[in-house]
Amino acid sequence: MAYDENNIFARILRGELPCNKVYEDDHALAFHDINPQAPVHVLVVPKGAYVDFDDFAHNASAEEQLGFTRAIGTVARQLGVVEQGFRLVTNNGAFAGQIVPHYHVHIFGGRKMAEGRM
Ligand code: 5GP
Repeated sequence: MAYDENNIFARILRGELPCNKVYEDDHALAFHDINPQAPVHVLVVPKGAYVDFDDFAHNASAEEQLGFTRAIGTVARQLGVVEQGFRLVTNNGAFAGQIVPHYHVHIFGGRKMAEGRM
């Protein structure tokens, strides 16, 4: 799928739409989900234009991939969810439930998650 420059997260990254920001660096922006599914529900978005995990995994540079992974770890610590435990989710494609076509990872925390499944 071709990248849509006007998807909601691209517009947030360009500052055209607001977000409740929790973290930003050269590789990633993190902000609270508008419709939280857990007491902590934060989205971490790479700054590069990637549609989904598959696109990011195959087309992003090693530096981008490391930077994005580190950013997720930094955000999780900043949110204070590491000690208790947290869940990382990415939906890859519409069949998997992806709505916004800019790669992102969900951080869920603050409540007990079901074991081994959604
Ligand atoms: P997906 O289903 O694509 O993995 O997740 C997209 C997420 O983005 C959903 O959890 C949805 O609530 C969130 N979302 C959609 N539009 C906005 C928005 O404009 N702002 C924020 N902060 N979150 C959004």
